[in-house]
Amino acid sequence: MHDLLVTDSVSKNFGDFTALNKVSIRVPEGSIFGLLGPNGAGKTTLIRIINQITMPDEGSVTLDNEPLADHHIRDIGYLPEERGLYKSMKVGEQALYLAQLKGLSKSEARKRLKTWFERLEIGDWWNKKIMELSKGMAQKIQFVVTVLHEPKLLIFDEPFSGFDPINANLIKEEILKLREAGATVIFSTHRMESVEELCDDIALLNKANKILEGSLQDIKRRYKTNTYEVGLVTSDEQRLKSLLRERFDIFPAEFKSLNDDLKLNIKLDFNETSNDLLSFLTNHAEVNHFNELVPTANDIFIQTVKNN
Ligand code: ADP
Ligand code: MG
Repeated sequence: MHDLLVTDSVSKNFGDFTALNKVSIRVPEGSIFGLLGPNGAGKTTLIRIINQITMPDEGSVTLDNEPLADHHIRDIGYLPEERGLYKSMKVGEQALYLAQLKGLSKSEARKRLKTWFERLEIGDWWNKKIMELSKGMAQKIQFVVTVLHEPKLLIFDEPFSGFDPINANLIKEEILKLREAGATVIFSTHRMESVEELCDDIALLNKANKILEGSLQDIKRRYKTNTYEVGLVTSDEQRLKSLLRERFDIFPAEFKSLNDDLKLNIKLDFNETSNDLLSFLTNHAEVNHFNELVPTANDIFIQTVKNN
């Protein structure tokens, strides 16, 4: 697949502090790319470089195979981490003004804004002043203004911070729809909840360095341990456990279930498959829960940052 955005060995220092150390990422066109990492990792610095707000000390950035240039600003919609709207202006006025700065005509801007405001259920805020809005509401307006001119690359810096779970979910759904409509999305976050459903690819930054990159699916495959969580019903738990121990590694497990069953995590050797385990289990017990334990993005994040 074509990479829409590529950063090649980008470094940035502030005095003698290194904020980015030779960071290279590739963002495939039409995908959602998660730029992950703890606070202070360098995510915002990289995003500011992509938006030509900061210049890198070293390395290069290309968009659509071209070195970044002024005209690319039109191709990018950017929601900064520090959100700022003019507090005393009315919502509609301000949104129209910002949309026109992005090159939309007033009538086109009004039309698109109407659709978006209705979609995000903020239609009745048109005549309110920004200062009357909560932080989350103002953030919704900024989200709309960021995507309104339909740029091919969207960059959201910590888009979910400041939102309650319902609005965070709403924004998540909108980001998925934007990808469906053909946009490429980069978003940063230090919280992992949003990552699972959204990201095709990720890069994990820690202390200015990229420590992990790839498709989330490949990374999960790499980190999984061939362990299954099972719930079993048997008349003789002790006998079942000793039978299992002869062939597998077993550990007590805790998960919610409607049944008062024997709950275990069972780790297989890499030459054994889920079918091997399942047929063993069905020979000796009633299986009412069977689930492969796949590491979450959060597990991977914590483990990789700790080991780094
Ligand atoms: P993140 O977005 O991952 O939380 P940032 O990119 O904002 O991290 O910051 C990375 C590091 O660079 C932090 O330690 C921050 O204090 C430092 N930093 C960022 N911008 C500046 C600046 N303009 N001057 C000095 N230090 C900065
Ligand atoms: Mg940041």
